[in-house]
Amino acid sequence: NEQRKKEAERQALERYQMIDKIGEGAFSTVYKALDVQTNETVAVKVIKKYQLDKSQQASVLKEVTIMRQLDHPCIVRFYNFIETEEFYFIVQELVSGGEIFNEIVKYTYFSEDLSRHVITQVAQAIKYLHAEKGVVHRDLKPENIFFNPIKHIPSKSPRLRKSDDPNSKLDEGEFIPNVGGGGIGTIKIGDFGLSKQIYADASLKTPCGTIGYTAPEIVKDMRYSEEVDMWALGCVLYILLCGFPPFFNDQIDVLTRKVAKGEFEFLSPWWDEISDGAKNCVSKLLTVDPRERYTIDDFLNDPWILEFLNRCHQAQ
Ligand code: ADP
Ligand code: MG
Repeated sequence: NEQRKKEAERQALERYQMIDKIGEGAFSTVYKALDVQTNETVAVKVIKKYQLDKSQQASVLKEVTIMRQLDHPCIVRFYNFIETEEFYFIVQELVSGGEIFNEIVKYTYFSEDLSRHVITQVAQAIKYLHAEKGVVHRDLKPENIFFNPIKHIPSKSPRLRKSDDPNSKLDEGEFIPNVGGGGIGTIKIGDFGLSKQIYADASLKTPCGTIGYTAPEIVKDMRYSEEVDMWALGCVLYILLCGFPPFFNDQIDVLTRKVAKGEFEFLSPWWDEISDGAKNCVSKLLTVDPRERYTIDDFLNDPWILEFLNRCHQAQ
């Protein structure tokens, strides 16, 4: 076994040639790397095992188990997992623009169209996770939402672009809104480190095992877990539109109280020019009672969202 792991390590290091460090978390470092077998660039999340206790190691394996099952254009694709003596390597699709977080910092805030361009793609990913896979992401935030850039934007009008290729000419296919300076193409969500599978088969909405034998805390957990992603979606949408989060305070206890009460404002002057439709959509997501909160289907049928989706559809 020792021998096998050494061999795996050697092969991994040979196959993936690290190019640049592109990200860092508490326990992981993410590199851009060249896969010499396919000649493609990939993202490799390297996790040092010795920093993790047994349950944290198990959660890395869970992250991989969940990622393996996912197949959606707005979710970072899983390529390979290698375990060595010292490290875990999670090899994924490289999303070359990096975090949407940095774009918000760069542009201060996004137009309503660009915000919808981003949030509708995140929503497509969530719909897939919730409805088809029974997976709750549980860590949606601008740091875990990545994008592929569009390098060339020819005109100010609504733009069209070919498929998924960031380098392609903008002449057919998907509608790209007038983004004013930004070149944000396909959005992909990543970091399934805190994600959880609540249903083995989402179409049946039957939990892993038999419902009759399931403990109350599990049943309750299932009832309210999808809704946490919808709350997070509301926080992300709020940030996209104005550039700062709905809840913030230096004191953690004050912040906690504000979140618990759902105490946020559409602060003037930053929100003055933003439409009532946008504000309504944010409010429906940032609703304290999870039973009242927008589900993913409610969100995709929100009038402000529908108006945008119809416009995208017509442009195609
Ligand atoms: P952590 O669990 O440590 O937060 P993440 O999976 O979020 O790990 O990765 C950390 C950072 O690395 C991300 O916020 C992002 O900047 C970068 N990153 C991760 N995966 C990718 C990817 N597939 N493509 C591009 N950048 C990535
Ligand atoms: Mg992260």
